[in-house]
Amino acid sequence: MMLQNIEKKIEDFIARIEARNPNEPEFLQAVKEFAHTVIPFIASHEKYSGKKLLERMTEPERSIIFRVPWVDDQGEIRVNRGFRIQMNSAIGPYKGGLRFHPSVNLSVLKFLAFEQVFKNSLTTLPMGGGKGGSDFDPQGKSDMEIMRFCQAFMTEMCKHIGPETDVPAGDIGVGAREIGYLFGQYKKIRNEFTGVLTGKGLAYGGSLIRPEATGYGVVYFCEQMLATKGEKIEGKTVTVSGFGNVAWGVIKKINALGGKVLTISGPDGYVYDKDGISGEKIDFLLELRDSGNNKAEDYVKKYPEAEFHAGKRPWEVPCDIAIPSATQNELNLEDAQKLVANGSICLTEAANMPCTLEAINHFISQKVLFSPGKASNAGGVATSGLEMTQNSIRLNWSSEEVDQRLHEIMVGIHNACMEYGKEEDGYINYVKGANIAGFVKVAEAMLAQGVV
Ligand code: GLU
Repeated sequence: MMLQNIEKKIEDFIARIEARNPNEPEFLQAVKEFAHTVIPFIASHEKYSGKKLLERMTEPERSIIFRVPWVDDQGEIRVNRGFRIQMNSAIGPYKGGLRFHPSVNLSVLKFLAFEQVFKNSLTTLPMGGGKGGSDFDPQGKSDMEIMRFCQAFMTEMCKHIGPETDVPAGDIGVGAREIGYLFGQYKKIRNEFTGVLTGKGLAYGGSLIRPEATGYGVVYFCEQMLATKGEKIEGKTVTVSGFGNVAWGVIKKINALGGKVLTISGPDGYVYDKDGISGEKIDFLLELRDSGNNKAEDYVKKYPEAEFHAGKRPWEVPCDIAIPSATQNELNLEDAQKLVANGSICLTEAANMPCTLEAINHFISQKVLFSPGKASNAGGVATSGLEMTQNSIRLNWSSEEVDQRLHEIMVGIHNACMEYGKEEDGYINYVKGANIAGFVKVAEAMLAQGVV
């Protein structure tokens, strides 16, 4: 098909999605990135054409929005909004995390659920895609308030999920503690002990390596990308944003492989530690996270030789590799230009959609190694899939076994990206590769199952 025809097809499709989903900028951003690479593929593969596959994939199978009333420590009644977006179940039960953060709304969760569908497909495990959460802000809440909120949230959500239907997990603001409270309430109401959530504690069905898995997977993926250029992580400088679970796993593995991590960040600014964030400083990140303070500056109070840059992002620090690990749209075109100008060779997304579309296009146009989160951060949900398997067979695997499977899955995702993303000049367009490889499996399943 002529190039202009394809461009027109993409434009028309995006216009329709825009009209259908007004005021959903994050969702539109995720769909745009996908459509630009997948529509040309569909147009050149007759079996996928004319089946309205993209129209179906961009419409959630079900969006559940509910009231979450709870009582705070002062006896005040509070009301939050709860969501579960069940996006696509073509290849397995809906699977994806829960995010508790004041920025949560329908657009954010639809973008996350959309990304999750293709991410889960890339893992090769039988998981559909979903996402949920609430605009509840866990910052500054007591443990009992967190528990009461989780119980109120699950009182409604338990009607819509189950081990063969929809299996939520954690995301920003939802870690082991929240998963425990959510699981307890599900068990109490449904009177069944099942693998309905992942990211559980080890004492009640969790998997070893799940806490580290997203970060480890990101670094395994990064290793594969570097290997295509004959490079490795050893001796490289790395800038990381965030200081949550994902950043922690990334920093641990980068250190284990001989790299040096120079930064972390929070909503308040970034920390530059010229000596590298290693050893006990990595353990301190867990304390920082659990302090409930959400301030990267607290790192500098403990390690005064590090510098704190208030209100700034770490992308101005020269580095070989940048790994955004905080949240969506935390790295824009200007940041991308700085990184490239400073000689960075690789950008590996660890958060979901941390780079804006303009930033991604800049990395790709400059032929810098760039991987989208749906490929490089898939290790978290992949290990959730391994947790589901262990729950089903009622056995626990060793750390080595889980880690080895995680590694194999990340190498497999990298291979899938190469298969569909290698361009004529040899450059690997990981965005294209991940989108098409993720799309193909979901499309095959949808075609086989008819119009449902
Ligand atoms: N929230 C994670 C993600 O973005 C994990 C989801 C899961 O384990 O289900 O992939």
